[in-house]
Parts: sequence; C-alpha cells; structure tokens
Amino acid sequence: YEGTITLIGDESFAPYQRPPLSKQYLSGELSIDRVYIRPTKFYEDRNIDLQLGARVTSIDRQNKTISTDNGQTLAYQKLLICTGSRPRELNIPGSDLPGIHYLRRLDDVDRIRDDMASANSICIIGGGYIGLEVAAVAVTAGLSVNILEMESRILQRVTNQQMSAFYHRLHTDRGVNIHTSTACTVFKGDARVNSVLCQDQSIAADMVIVGIGILPNIELAQQAGLECDNGILVDDHCRTSDPDIFSAGDCTNHPNKSLNTRLRLESVHNALEQGKTVASSLLKKNIAYNQVPWFWSDQYDHKLQIVGISGDHDKVVKRGGEENRSFLLFYLKKNKLIAVDAVNNPKEFMICKKLVANKIKISSDYISDPSINLSELLS
Ligand code: NAP
Repeated sequence: YEGTITLIGDESFAPYQRPPLSKQYLSGELSIDRVYIRPTKFYEDRNIDLQLGARVTSIDRQNKTISTDNGQTLAYQKLLICTGSRPRELNIPGSDLPGIHYLRRLDDVDRIRDDMASANSICIIGGGYIGLEVAAVAVTAGLSVNILEMESRILQRVTNQQMSAFYHRLHTDRGVNIHTSTACTVFKGDARVNSVLCQDQSIAADMVIVGIGILPNIELAQQAGLECDNGILVDDHCRTSDPDIFSAGDCTNHPNKSLNTRLRLESVHNALEQGKTVASSLLKKNIAYNQVPWFWSDQYDHKLQIVGISGDHDKVVKRGGEENRSFLLFYLKKNKLIAVDAVNNPKEFMICKKLVANKIKISSDYISDPSINLSELLS
C-alpha cells in the first residue's frame, strides 16, 4: 500500500505490547525498548504519520472526517477504530485516594513500579488475569499480598473449578492470601490508602491494584451512529455498519465461524488476527476472519494456555498429573472437543489448538492416557 496512513493514539507512547505489562515489564525483567511493537524508525520508513497524545473526539461520516482534541480535522477514505477497552472502575468510599492503581497502560505500570519499590503490602481487588499476574510479581518481590475476589473462586470467568483450585494453591503455597466471596466496601487512609475494608475485616495495604475487568471503548463509534451491541458490531471482514469504517480488537463484537456465534473477545490473539483481516480487506484481498480463540497467562514458572471457549462443556477429562506441574484439561460437549486448558505443556498445546479447530470426537479413556501421542489424532 502506497497511500497515506495516519495512526492516532491518545497515549504518548508509540504502539506497544500490553501482555508483558502485568508480567515481565512490572517485574523489571523487560525494558521499555522490548515492549514497543516496532522502533519509531519503522513508522518513519513507511511514511506512517504517528500522531501520539491526540484523542479523536468525533467522526463525521457524511464528510468523512475525524476531529481530534488538539483541534485538527483530518479526512479519510477508510477509517479503522481500534479503541480497545478500559479498566472497569470501582467506585466505593476512598477510591480516589493516592496509592490505588489500575493496570492497563504503560504509564500505569511505571507508577505501580514506583509505589511497589517502597511498599511492604499490596491488596489486589479481583482474582482474574491482572490480579493473579500482579500477585505473582509482587510476592516474588517480597511484598505481603492479599487478593479479594467477589466470586467463590479465582479465574472463575475463564476456567473450571479444578484449574481454579490449582492456581489458588499455586499462589497460597507462595504466601499469597486469597479471600474469595469477598467484596471490598471502603478504602481507608489519610494522605494515601493504608487499608481496605471488606465485610467484617480490615486488610492493611500500602497500595492497591484494582483488576475487576474491562469495558470496551465504543463511545466514539456510538456517537457516530455505528451499530453497537456489547462492542462495535463488525462482520467477518471487520467492517462496521458503515462500509468505509472498520474496527478490530477488544472493542469489537464479531462473528466467529468456528464457534458459530457472535462474541466480544478480550485477547491479544484476536486483536492481532483482526488487524490482519482489516488490512486484507483494505487491500481488497478479502480474507475472512476465521480463528479459534486462544489465551495465555504466565504466573511464576507456570504457563497457562487456553484454546476454545469452555463454558458450554458437559465433560472434563484430565491428562497428566498436577503433581508434575504439567497437565491438560480437555472440555467436551457431546464427545466433541470444544476447549483445552494446558499448564506447562506448550508442545501438546500446539497440537490441541488444531484438535479444537477440527472439533474432533474423542473418547475420554484415550486422551487421558499420557502414553498416547496426541498428534495421532490429527491424521
Ligand atoms: P478479568 O480477567 O475479567 O477478571 C476480573 C475479576 O475480578 C473477575 O473474576 C471479576 O468477577 C472480579 N471482580 C469484579 N468486581 C469485583 C469486585 N468489586 N471485587 C472483587 N472482585 C471483583 O479482568 P482483569 O483481570 O481486570 O483484566 C483486565 C483485562 O486485561 C481483561 O480483558 C483480561 O483478559 C486482560 N488481561 C489478560 C491477561 C492474559 O491474558 N494473560 C493478562 C492481564 C490482563 P466477575 O467475573 O464476577 O465480574
């Protein structure tokens, strides 16, 4: 493509990867240069006009222009909305006290790291991916860690009881205190937060991280009159209800052929693949999005990888033993494989991605036998 590309973002950083933020960037293992997706020169060499620290305030579909908060009006032929999502806020008494953090952006993590350097205790609200990944980094760094989760188990949104219990133990064995079925009601403190009240107890905390989910950023699209319903509605070419406007990533609600449903996904894999789909549509190659969702999370020396959406299963089969720190859970529905969770087994996980895509029918006895080579099921 030889025309003009303008990339506008309200953050002051060039595009960067979010997955390391709650892991290696937070722990200090990864420097900022390794977090950027491309060096700045990449954009210069390709004549991509990178406009950082600018926020798009409106879209005029009639005249095909957008306006920004720094007073610009820019014309477009095709427009791509990748506004992603923002953390869901917890509004309770004391929630504006210094020392209370959300983790989404690079500069959020810079502030969290600064606070962690002098803190002895941290309270984490939410036992999802953010909460658990931060807990792993914080307890490894020597902080006292409490996690408050409203549900009866951690990772409740993404996995089953057995896997939640495994991750619960993984954290408590390393000294993390996990309080399930617990909602916090007040943040206490004077100049900054010093404790969190929940039901009948008070938990001391020099700092707090709130990781209670996200909200898709759909307001710009809504104001422009684009169809939205739990996300910006797009087709399998990532086209919105306006044929000249596309959307990709966390903010979209899109059809998934392999799952035979529409859904909104909070996943890096989806964002990357939808990005490719949009590019192919813009270049008139028209390759439809057709992906099986997959996710991963690194906590301590454990890699959790998930392929497919397991919620609808009627049977779970385990392969391998938790005692070896490496096992898989196969989720079946009417004997068809719909999802797999793998702990510390990237090799078999690669095969499982294909098995889930092929929706294979399998017998429980067969997959649970670790001496069976899973790749035999591919033929
Ligand atoms: P999340 O994975 O949705 O988990 C949030 C958890 O907090 C849920 O279990 C939620 O329960 C619970 N919760 C909600 N309100 C609460 C409250 N008032 N008190 C205590 N617990 C509460 O969201 P997240 O961990 O904040 O992550 C934010 C986004 O970043 C997500 O899109 C996530 O996928 C992404 N992320 C992904 C990774 C990864 O893939 N490895 C790593 C970091 C972040 P309910 O389900 O009942 O609301």
